[in-house]
Amino acid sequence: MKKILIAALRASVIALCALFISCGKKIMDSQTQYVFGTVCTVNLYADGSEELYAEVFKTLNGIDDKFNVNKEYSEISKVNQNAGSGNAVSVSQEVFEVVKVAKKVAKASENSFNPALGKLIRLWGIGTENARIPSEDEIADALKHCNPESIVLSQNDGKYFIEITDRETQIDLGAIVKGYGADQLAAMLESRGVKKALIDLGGNIYVFGNKSQNPDDLWRVAIRNPVNPDAEPVEVVSLKEGSVVTSGNYERYFEKDGIRYHHLLDGNTGYPAQTGLASVSVIGKQSMYCDALATAFFVAGKSGDILDKLDILEIKKIFVALDGKIVIK
Ligand code: ADP
Ligand code: MG
Repeated sequence: MKKILIAALRASVIALCALFISCGKKIMDSQTQYVFGTVCTVNLYADGSEELYAEVFKTLNGIDDKFNVNKEYSEISKVNQNAGSGNAVSVSQEVFEVVKVAKKVAKASENSFNPALGKLIRLWGIGTENARIPSEDEIADALKHCNPESIVLSQNDGKYFIEITDRETQIDLGAIVKGYGADQLAAMLESRGVKKALIDLGGNIYVFGNKSQNPDDLWRVAIRNPVNPDAEPVEVVSLKEGSVVTSGNYERYFEKDGIRYHHLLDGNTGYPAQTGLASVSVIGKQSMYCDALATAFFVAGKSGDILDKLDILEIKKIFVALDGKIVIK
């Protein structure tokens, strides 16, 4: 009996060695790179090979290259450069689709989420070295050029085009592109057979696969207290697969005379949105929608009927007020 056991053990050790030799790959810990102007960390657990991590960041950088308005060669920059020229710029299908969703969320949220805020965003410069409080005249002028209707999509002969009809309107997709990136990356990894992953694109989280050290096999994502990061999380979300995205007034801001000017701008007033909220988290299957909606809800100060106007299922949301307490909105 003992002999049989030893033989079986030997055989399994040999089989295990053979497996490692045949795979020939070393499992790497989570990897971090700066993409989308923020810290992006991806953990592929047992599938984390050097090649796959290289592919992960190639995918993310490839998306940033298409969407980043601070890269003058990006597709969105090309569209912006042609604003008011009468030229519809040829774009990739993915840029077209994301702008289409952005316009859809803008419509449903009555422009609380607004992809045409580029001019206003640049004016405030929040998160850059040039952050400042613009004059009232500058704000009034920028607000004349923030209409998402000026972004016109068209298709012709299997090709995709975007045209900005107003010379001074500029697209900015900073509030949706990380979510889109997380969805794309998750799809790529699942197609490669990755069984479990944690994607964190600057706080824009996407998880899939079993988290087997938890008895229920679910992931736990903590929602930090936006008022005091050292305090206990305001909530811990359990989920099997999907995304958790938070937009908050603590992410990027500057202070002047005791007032905090944060990066979530209200296209009605031209100022950072003041709706009594410190953060909004959105939990759902598609990170792109979670991302856009976190911004939309934050700026609107409520979820209201925004969701009813979009045909997306199973969205959960957590609103945290300026005193750090969860509120229903
Ligand atoms: P973060 O990028 O910090 O995670 P968001 O997803 O909410 O937060 O995106 C904020 C960014 O989106 C801003 O830095 C700006 O580029 C852009 N933005 C600001 N206000 C709005 C708005 N009301 N609608 C759409 N985009 C916005
Ligand atoms: Mg967002």
